[in-house]
Amino acid sequence: MATSQPNLSVDKNHLKSFEPISVPERLLLGPGPSNAHPDVLKALSLHPIGHLDPFYVDLMSEVQELLRYAWQTSNRLTIPMSGTGSAAMEATIANTVEEADTVLVGVNGYFGNRLVDMAGRYKANVETFEKPWGEAFSLEEIEVALKKYKPSILAMVHAETSTGVCQPMHGIGELCEKYDCLLLLDTVTSLGGVPLFIDKWKVDLAYSCSQKGLSCPPGLGPFTMSKRAEKKLLARKDKVPNWYLDVSLLNQYWGSDRVYHHTAPVNMNFGMRESLRLLAEEGLENAWDRHRRNAEKLWLGLVHLGLDLHVQEELRLPTLTTVRIPEGLDGKAFSLHLLNNYGVEIGGGLGDLAGTVWRIGLMGYNSSDENVDKILNLFETELPRFKGNSACAV
Ligand SMILES: *Cc1c(COP(=O)(O)O)cnc(C)c1O
Repeated sequence: MATSQPNLSVDKNHLKSFEPISVPERLLLGPGPSNAHPDVLKALSLHPIGHLDPFYVDLMSEVQELLRYAWQTSNRLTIPMSGTGSAAMEATIANTVEEADTVLVGVNGYFGNRLVDMAGRYKANVETFEKPWGEAFSLEEIEVALKKYKPSILAMVHAETSTGVCQPMHGIGELCEKYDCLLLLDTVTSLGGVPLFIDKWKVDLAYSCSQKGLSCPPGLGPFTMSKRAEKKLLARKDKVPNWYLDVSLLNQYWGSDRVYHHTAPVNMNFGMRESLRLLAEEGLENAWDRHRRNAEKLWLGLVHLGLDLHVQEELRLPTLTTVRIPEGLDGKAFSLHLLNNYGVEIGGGLGDLAGTVWRIGLMGYNSSDENVDKILNLFETELPRFKGNSACAV
């Protein structure tokens, strides 16, 4: 048999020699991913079982129950999408947007723009209202936009990871009711770390990810949908234009029918189940308090070192802090120095803030007193070596 096959066009003798994988130690204090909890890593390394195995089916229900707790919602359709946060983001839009629907997006950072891009691809009539990167929207500004555009969906970002702003949510859901539109909320960097009340805030569609506040590696995108949003899905004239993210199909697997749709990433769901269990064990309020306490200590310490924070204190996100890079300092060289010499990752600026801020994340498992001390010490001892002249040889 072997003789009848053509020669391999990619010959293994031409490959470099590969060692078994090893990964350098890293403390991930950037915008994500964040380090995973050791118990989550253990769960990920368990042997996979069948995605229709009764044991796994029970585990799916546990994940859903725990996700509803984390999000404070009773939404039936609360599931982890197989994919990262962006997959869950696209799912909120793919399932509810029909051609010529007006989708109104509040843009005050990078992820607002991603929502605009996605909604446009689903043929929505996309309208925006904007604020500078580092600010939040007032209720008045939101109402003016709702009145003007009369959207069927208002999309906003609760925790803008590109700017470090937490959008105050009080009253927005009521406005959406008044103007008869669905409220879609990006909760990627708030879930697990910042007070979040999907039902109380009357949020109809929300999504998140596994790798930020939930102490899990990237790979799953929690998704939730209210009864009101479900109605819009049921009333669609055409099929959901994205097969993989179609909630009406996915619901046959996650609902009581358990019909095969795609093979669930079983181990990722083991990890997610464990991360959510840990969150419930700690208690949501305790987790929120921990994130706030550690963030406040970080803010105080940075200001003490003479650094400026980009966002005013009332709007600051406990999970992500934007620090202005001092004039004349090479911010990128400094973060590379921390990574190469100390194994600590912090992020740089995106979009309008590129080159002007560092982004320090304290998310999930990584939001600890010890990590705050570590990063503050590094800023204290290493930053002076970069002052005055950007290119400091180390
Ligand atoms: C990280 C992030 C996303 C995208 O999630 P991925 O897991 O990278 O796909 C979306 N919105 C916000 C606010 C984020 O921080």
